Amino acid sequence: MSDPTSEQGALRAEVAKFTAAEITPNATRWDTEHGDGAYPMHLFTRLGELGWLGIGFDEAIGGSGGGPVERCILFEELAYGSAGAALGLYVHTALAAGALADIADAALAERFVPGLLAGTTTGAWAYAEPDSGADVTRVRLAASRDGDHFVLNGSKVYITNGTFADLILVVVRTSGEPGRLGGLSVLAVDGASEGLTRTPMDKLGMRPSELAELHFDDCVVPADRLVGEVDRGFRQCLAVLSQGRVFAGALALGLGRAAFDSALAHVGTREQFGAPLADKQVVRMTVAEMATRLRTVRHLVYSAAETLGGGGDYDTAASIAKLVASETATWVSERCLHLHGAQGFMLESPAQRFYRDCKINEWGEGANELQREMIFEATTKGFRP
Ligand SMILES: Cc1cc2nc3c(=O)[nH]c(=O)nc-3n(C[C@H](O)[C@H](O)[C@H](O)COP(=O)(O)OP(=O)(O)OC[C@H]3O[C@@H](n4cnc5c(N)ncnc54)[C@H](O)[C@@H]3O)c2cc1C
Repeated sequence: MSDPTSEQGALRAEVAKFTAAEITPNATRWDTEHGDGAYPMHLFTRLGELGWLGIGFDEAIGGSGGGPVERCILFEELAYGSAGAALGLYVHTALAAGALADIADAALAERFVPGLLAGTTTGAWAYAEPDSGADVTRVRLAASRDGDHFVLNGSKVYITNGTFADLILVVVRTSGEPGRLGGLSVLAVDGASEGLTRTPMDKLGMRPSELAELHFDDCVVPADRLVGEVDRGFRQCLAVLSQGRVFAGALALGLGRAAFDSALAHVGTREQFGAPLADKQVVRMTVAEMATRLRTVRHLVYSAAETLGGGGDYDTAASIAKLVASETATWVSERCLHLHGAQGFMLESPAQRFYRDCKINEWGEGANELQREMIFEATTKGFRP
């Protein structure tokens, strides 16, 4: 991991300042108000105005320049305030806008990416289905070609931003049977399409973000909404998803840091047996272990970000970063809650929120078991730690 440039340091300071002023103070309220139209929608326009949604995108398409390291800084610092709010922004920019910018033809990308990066429209990315979780080959949502359009029938589940997104990148089966990656295409579907019903889903953590179940019933989508090639679009998006693992790792790092800081503050002030908890050796060892694991994650995430797009073994570096970052966030959040005792168990305490928010990182962007499979596969092809 290289030392940050002065521009990267300035970006981190700016995002941290924004988070402290506009995200952290609202995080508990956004968490508890879920189900009441709670996603802080103004974040899309605010971050669009600040140019932060455009980080990592070419200026020619409405982006603000910068690259994967700058995008990691953004997601880490936002997630420090609210991982749930950061998740909605991550899906919108890195996955929805990212797939359009990298895979779609110029006309489609130019039509939709600038609005997404300005935050005037919102995006979602949908591949999960009732029978297709970690195993994407099981996707069965059917898109049959009929003249100049596709007709969609089937369902998606657990779609972040799915309740409100203006544009949803939907992974569909255009040929073949479930069990194959070939035959999967991607369509940019209007959220307001006739034949598309969106039903909100309630959940344990990441509550400021909104999840939806999507039902497509003879939903007509123009053929010019194809992202990439027919039958190959999903394969073409794999690079976007691989990069997404590094950004998901940065998000987990921000969440883990928030849990760490909360635990550190608590053990310094909470007194039992006549002294602060931090005076107990076992507590000091726990805090030191938390700090050590998070510092390791920082190195993994940012060194993977530096290699993104540069060839070599960046896919494996991305898998390792996401794997270690997500499991560290879970471990640190659990220790944070433990150190808080009953106080942390109360719903007004951020400690219980970190504990609920962290788990999804272990399944999102490819279940960690799949990351381990991929890392093993890489070792058979010469990857060495
Ligand atoms: C908050 C949240 C937001 C989400 N946002 C989106 C979104 O925006 N778009 C979207 O498409 N999806 C989204 N998802 C769904 C996400 O993609 C799935 O959770 C993920 O693909 C895993 O699928 P699954 O949850 O059905 O678990 P399953 O695939 O059923 O896995 C169940 C368990 O088996 C394990 N497992 C899986 N494969 C293996 C294996 N090969 N070996 C051993 N163990 C294995 C898993 O780790 C898990 O522990 C979201 C989910 C949540 C909870």
